[in-house]
Amino acid sequence: MKTDWTLEEVMALYERPLLELVYEAATVHRLHHNPSEVQISSLLSIKTGGCPEDCGYCPQASRYHTGVNNESMMTKQQVEIAAKRMKALGASRMCMGAAWRNVKDDADFEHVLELVRTVNDLDMEVCATLGMVTPAQARKLADAGLYAYNHNLDTSEDYYKEIISTRGYEDRLKTLDNVRKAKLTVCSGGIVGMGESVADRCKMLITLSKLDPQPESVPINALVAVEGTPMENQQPVPIWDMVRMVAVARIVIPTAVIRLSAGRTSMSREGQALCFMAGAGSIFAGDQLLTTPNPDIHQDLEMFDILGLRPVAPFASHPKPEIEGDTAEVDEEESTKWSRPGHQIEANIAYTKLGKEKRKALKASAKK
Ligand code: SF4
Repeated sequence: MKTDWTLEEVMALYERPLLELVYEAATVHRLHHNPSEVQISSLLSIKTGGCPEDCGYCPQASRYHTGVNNESMMTKQQVEIAAKRMKALGASRMCMGAAWRNVKDDADFEHVLELVRTVNDLDMEVCATLGMVTPAQARKLADAGLYAYNHNLDTSEDYYKEIISTRGYEDRLKTLDNVRKAKLTVCSGGIVGMGESVADRCKMLITLSKLDPQPESVPINALVAVEGTPMENQQPVPIWDMVRMVAVARIVIPTAVIRLSAGRTSMSREGQALCFMAGAGSIFAGDQLLTTPNPDIHQDLEMFDILGLRPVAPFASHPKPEIEGDTAEVDEEESTKWSRPGHQIEANIAYTKLGKEKRKALKASAKK
């Protein structure tokens, strides 16, 4: 498998005539995956809002005013009901997300471990996205039955500095390394449409392709520009860009499941069909993707019928790693220091100020 992709090579792929690119990606897809199968994944926000980070695209960052409230953690029963419902509709993977900077060794984390055990007992692939994790925390998640950990690179290392100032790219890579050491499968991808260049998109895919081993799962999101975030005025991503991103990801990371993630509400079925042709092997289903809207699962199932696609069984693409009793690569004492670059991102600063003003105005009008 080629793992020494250069920027020149990947950009040349990205810029190929679209149908040529799709044909090549479809050919690679057929070598490693069943093209008639697409995994239905469910993404559940188990702890919504109130996040201290300043990710410029995220409605859950507490500093922006987006109408997303700081909610308490979902209960075991709520999660179990949601997982069973999605499983009955064909989902074989369940990702649980918490709006945290990083995992802390506290009661909330213990609760997450309980949630992981609960979903694992339903024989679904359990994924979590909880922010940065240390090797020991990743190990605890693995012991609880977690199958995958999601931590997106979001974009290229260069452009990352334009989007987030509260942590660095190296923290992302360190977390992925910690996850890998705990023998979890790795889920990491990015967001298209944040104002990045084609080179930034290609650089992100190259970074992912050079991880050793490559990630088992690569979500490709289209930005959902949420009012109140610094990205609220970004123009929607053309579907052709999404098709190109999926196709190039397919070629440079051939064994990963490429996941067509956020932004599907503004994609036509024809556009999504092209993405499946180009190698997308999974969708996220459910009424909401964390906090943004998503197509109704019944519409997705109708689309599967039209396209002749079948939902895939759990662990079909990558078997569940044997974890028990294998602590060789995890140093429980290893502590991880996370960075806080704190550089100035004008848009984030402006929208933080706007958020403060809006909250102040709301408080004042509530007093009247
Ligand atoms: S993307 Fe995650 S870390 Fe960033 S603000 Fe949103 S919830 Fe927090």
